[in-house]
Amino acid sequence: MSVQHDDSIPTREKVLVIGAGPAGLAAAAALRAVGLPFDLVDGAEHVGGVWSGASGKTNEVVW
Ligand SMILES: Cc1cc2nc3c(=O)[nH]c(=O)nc-3n(C[C@H](O)[C@H](O)[C@H](O)COP(=O)(O)OP(=O)(O)OC[C@H]3O[C@@H](n4cnc5c(N)ncnc54)[C@H](O)[C@@H]3O)c2cc1C
Repeated sequence: MSVQHDDSIPTREKVLVIGAGPAGLAAAAALRAVGLPFDLVDGAEHVGGVWSGASGKTNEVVW
């Protein structure tokens, strides 16, 4: 996937990505690729979301 930074987008503000699961991590990677500043936060103490296997919702590690 190719992402290009539109220079008409103001970049004084930071993007806030909520959730460090696969979707949030992919969003963060795309933002970094185009040089847009962001913070990535998660309510859990680990990144990876469900894929971390540490959600407490399942004893099975995904993948
Ligand atoms: C039991 C199970 C097995 C699975 N097995 C597979 C598999 O084998 N292969 C596969 O491809 N997919 C599998 N999936 C699906 C895969 O886990 C999901 O598609 C994927 O995790 C979705 O990613 P996500 O980032 O959208 O959400 P999540 O992985 O759910 O991540 C969301 C993150 O956001 C955080 N969050 C949520 N709300 C807030 C809030 N208000 N404030 C701060 N943080 C917040 C959570 O703590 C979490 O870290 C499985 C799912 C389950 C439940």
